[in-house]
Amino acid sequence: MEIICGKKASSGIAEGELYVARKERGKVTRTKVDDPAAETEKYRRARTKVSSELSELIKRTRETVGEDEAQIFEIHKMMLWDEDFDQSIVSMIRWQAVNAEYAVSATADNLARIFTEMSGDYMKARAADIHDVAKRLTEALEGKDETFRLTAPVIIAAEDLTPGETVNFDKDLALGFITELGSDNSHSAILARTMGIPAVVAAGRIDPSFHGKRCIIDGTEGKLYVDPDPMTRRLLLKRKEESEKRAASLEALRNHLSVTKDGKRIKVYANIGDINDAKYAYEGDAEGIGLFRSEFLYMKNGALPGEEEQFNAYKTVGEKMGGREIIVRTLDAGADKQIGYLNAGNEANPALGLRAIRLCLSRQELFLTQLRALYRASAYVKISIMFPMIVNKEEIIESKKLCRLAMEQLRAEGVPFSEHTKIGIMVETPAAAVCADLLAPYVDFFSIGTNDLIQYTVAADRENPSVTYLTEGRIEAVMRLISHVGRCAGAAGIRAGVCGELAADPSLTEFFIANDITELSVPPSKVLEIREAVMKTDSREAIKKYYPHKLQKKEDV
Ligand code: PEP
Ligand code: MG
Repeated sequence: MEIICGKKASSGIAEGELYVARKERGKVTRTKVDDPAAETEKYRRARTKVSSELSELIKRTRETVGEDEAQIFEIHKMMLWDEDFDQSIVSMIRWQAVNAEYAVSATADNLARIFTEMSGDYMKARAADIHDVAKRLTEALEGKDETFRLTAPVIIAAEDLTPGETVNFDKDLALGFITELGSDNSHSAILARTMGIPAVVAAGRIDPSFHGKRCIIDGTEGKLYVDPDPMTRRLLLKRKEESEKRAASLEALRNHLSVTKDGKRIKVYANIGDINDAKYAYEGDAEGIGLFRSEFLYMKNGALPGEEEQFNAYKTVGEKMGGREIIVRTLDAGADKQIGYLNAGNEANPALGLRAIRLCLSRQELFLTQLRALYRASAYVKISIMFPMIVNKEEIIESKKLCRLAMEQLRAEGVPFSEHTKIGIMVETPAAAVCADLLAPYVDFFSIGTNDLIQYTVAADRENPSVTYLTEGRIEAVMRLISHVGRCAGAAGIRAGVCGELAADPSLTEFFIANDITELSVPPSKVLEIREAVMKTDSREAIKKYYPHKLQKKEDV
C-alpha cells in the first residue's frame, strides 16, 4: 500500500481504479527536417483540424454544459489562430529546420512562461490554456486522439486539470479527483465541491505507474490510498458506508422547508460561483442563492464583461433557480481574487488595499455597468444586491447613489426593473460587525462573510498555511461579532444571514439561530445537512443556551 498525502479540497470517500489522466506531459523531441515548407504545411493542416475540433467542442459544450465553459474553448480557438503564436511556430520551422511538433511545443512553453510570470491568477491560468492548445496541436500532428475519454467510473489523477480536460470527460464517471498541483481554487477542487465528490489537491508527484491500480480517495483527510491493505480498506469503506447512509437519510428532508421545532423559519440557501452551479444548487434543494460570487464573470474572458452578458448571466441563474431569490454579490476583486486587467496595482498588502467595494467605488463606470445589469435582471427574476467588504456607512451611501443612478437611467430609457430590489451588505470586516447597529438603517439585510471576518479579526491571512491554527476552530472573538451582528439586525428589523464557510458547520446552527440569524448559505451539497440541523433546533432552547438574558422580560431583570 502507498499513501499519497495532499490537501483536502472536497470531503468524502470513493473507491475505484486510478486513471492517471496525463501520464507524462507529451515529451516532444527535436528533430531536423529536410523540407521546412512541407513541415509548415503539415502544421497548417493540423491547425485547421484542431480548429474544427474546437468548433465542434464549443458547440457541444454550449449545448451540454453552458456558455461559460464554451467561452473557454473560444479562448483556445483564439490562441490557436493568434498571429504571433503562428508566426513564431512557422519561423522556427523555417529558420531552424525543426519538426512542427517541436516548434509548437517550444513556442507554447515560451508563452506559458510569460503568462506564469505575470501577476494575477487570471494570467497564470492562461498558461494551462496555452498548453492545452499545444497539446491538441502536437497530438493532431502525431495523429493521436486529443482528449482523454473515460469509459468506466474512475478516480482521476492529473497534474492539474485543464478546462479542456475537465469539460471533455463524462462527469458521471468521475468518482473523485487528485491533482499534483492546484489549490482550493483550482478547476478540479471547485468542480468536486460543487458536484459533491471527494478531491485532494497539491499532492505532489503521482507515479504514472499507479495508473489502473485500485485506490481509495479520502477527501475528508486529504489522502489517496494506492492498493490499500485489507484492514485500511475495511476501515475506509466503513466510513464511506456510514456517510452514504447519512446522505440517504437526509433525502427525506428534500422539499421540506427549514423550520425549527418551535416553528421558526430559517432559509437554507446555497453559495455559487458560476452560472452552471445553479443546477447543483437547485438539485441540492437550496431555497435560494445566498451568495453568487459574481467575480467569475470578470475572470473568464480576460476583459470586462459587458452589461448584456452580465444581464443574461443573472437572469439565467434566477431562471435556473425557479424564481427563488438570488443574492448577487457585486464584484469582489482584489486580494485572493486578483483580476489582472483591472490593474489594481502592485500593492504591498492587497488584502488591505483597493479591493471589492473600494475598487468599484473608484471605478464607477465599471460598477454602474454591473448595477444596471442587475436591475435589468430584477425585472425577470428575484435579484437582491449585496456589497462586499463594507467598512462604514459612507460606502453604503455612495454605493446606493449609484444604484439610484442605474435605476434613473433605466427608467429614462424605458427599460423595466424591479423597484423593490433589496440591497444588503457582506459583514466581513470587524469594523462593519462592531458598528452593525449604525449600518443596519441603510440596508435591507446583512450577510456575514465569516471567511474574511475571521482573517481580519485574528489578523491572519486566510491562505497562509503557517497561520491556519489561528483561523480554524471556534474563535471566541468571531462568535461575539456574529452574535452582535445578529442581534443588531434583529433589533433593526432586518434579516441577517451567514454565507462564509462557518454556515455549513451544523454544530453552529443552534448558535446562529439563538443570535437572530435567519439565513444560512452553504455549498449545494450541504443544504440538506444544515436543514436537518435547523429542524433539530428549538430556538427557545437555543436562546437559553447561548443568549439567556434575551428571554428575560424587563421586569425580571
Ligand atoms: C467570506 O469572506 O466569508 C465570503 C463568503 O466571501 P469570499 O470567501 O468570497 O471572500
Ligand atoms: Mg469575503
